[in-house]
Amino acid sequence: MGGQAMHETGRAGDVDILISGAQVISPGEGQPLVVPKGDIAVAGSAIVFVGPSPAPERFSGAARVIDASGLIAMPGFVNAHTHAAMTLFRGFADDMPLMEWLSQKIWPAEAHLAADDVYWGSMLACVEMIRAGVTTFADMYFFMDETAKAVERTGIRASLSRGLIGTAPGSDRALAEGRELCERWNGACGGRITAMLGPHAPYTCPRDFLEKVMGSASELGVGMHIHLAETEGEVRECKNLHGGLSPIELMDSYGLFEFPVLAAHCVHVSEKDIGILGAKGVGVAHNPGCNMKIASGIAPIPRMLEAGVRVGLGTDGAASNNNLDLLEEARIAAFLHKLASNDPTVLPAHQALYLATLGSARALRLDAEVGSLEAGKKADIILMDSTGPHMYPHHDVFSHIVYSARSCDVRTVIVDGEVVMEDGVLTTVDEREVLARAEERAQALSMAR
Ligand SMILES: [Zn+2]
Repeated sequence: MGGQAMHETGRAGDVDILISGAQVISPGEGQPLVVPKGDIAVAGSAIVFVGPSPAPERFSGAARVIDASGLIAMPGFVNAHTHAAMTLFRGFADDMPLMEWLSQKIWPAEAHLAADDVYWGSMLACVEMIRAGVTTFADMYFFMDETAKAVERTGIRASLSRGLIGTAPGSDRALAEGRELCERWNGACGGRITAMLGPHAPYTCPRDFLEKVMGSASELGVGMHIHLAETEGEVRECKNLHGGLSPIELMDSYGLFEFPVLAAHCVHVSEKDIGILGAKGVGVAHNPGCNMKIASGIAPIPRMLEAGVRVGLGTDGAASNNNLDLLEEARIAAFLHKLASNDPTVLPAHQALYLATLGSARALRLDAEVGSLEAGKKADIILMDSTGPHMYPHHDVFSHIVYSARSCDVRTVIVDGEVVMEDGVLTTVDEREVLARAEERAQALSMAR
């Protein structure tokens, strides 16, 4: 599938990493890139060459050469929606309806969370995601300085937002924290961290509060990350309260979509809603695993893609998924939409992989930097083992990755030109310490309740 293509920039002579002899693939807007035996050269944080092996002579003097024979090189996965520190609540409350799960279990437990918990929960999430080949994630939670520190330390890339509940006491304080997060971290770590404001949802953020959030977004020059139209009940209630307007119509009427917006879920949407999402360039984070587990419904993703909506894939928090494995999410998305539309041609493997990489990057508006392997883009690259029995025989690499590979096939992960996992070993943190500290924090939290 796909034609071979060669990408390079003029910059050479200072190549830090040369990945040599990999099967290189990269989903694209049109034809995906496939190089059966290819090289990738990295200088600093950027890719300077992607093409058939051997790379031209001038890229050969790399400080470090990674022999990638038997490995697939592809862009890292982009998790378009999660709540990293909720790893602490993995397996804590399952098999419940969303509102009951939130109000009876999650919100009361979260009331006990301290900054240190969020740090170790976020560290656990970063470790889990790096292991699964996720190189970028979009997060919404609180104590977000702690999540930013975990991102800084582990070397992963993230777009962070402080979740804001306008109906809760202290909402102005929360907004101030959200603004501080943007001021302190947007563009930090050489641009590896970006920030947004995070109004939680229309049903928790009344108009006057959203006006303040939009005012701040305008002053700070940042976008917003919000949950939209997740359940049927939410849409029904919104229409009852707001003269028949859906959550998406309501947010549009407030002017929210004049800003860059990343909207999680968008499960219960009308044709009119889809038209608005497409026309306003709203990024949609589709979380099929979470939507299935909570039985929220099936987002009409094939229809959104037809309408040109910027769709990406997310895991949502580990309390409702229950892992942060975006490869699994790509497979679930493909299976779900084939079944829902009674059509096996819907969401083919290469398109599911596109959603998990470049599609998510577009939803986060980070596609100029990440999401595909191209000279000039950031070096966010994963190397996946293709020698396991479940990867034989070597027919279609896109089919193998989406329908057969496991995220533990990811062997090496490079983010921003830095190797953060090398042949299965994390290089930036002591993984055993992270697991032990996260376990400790989670157990202390369950004692506190
Ligand atoms: Zn969420």
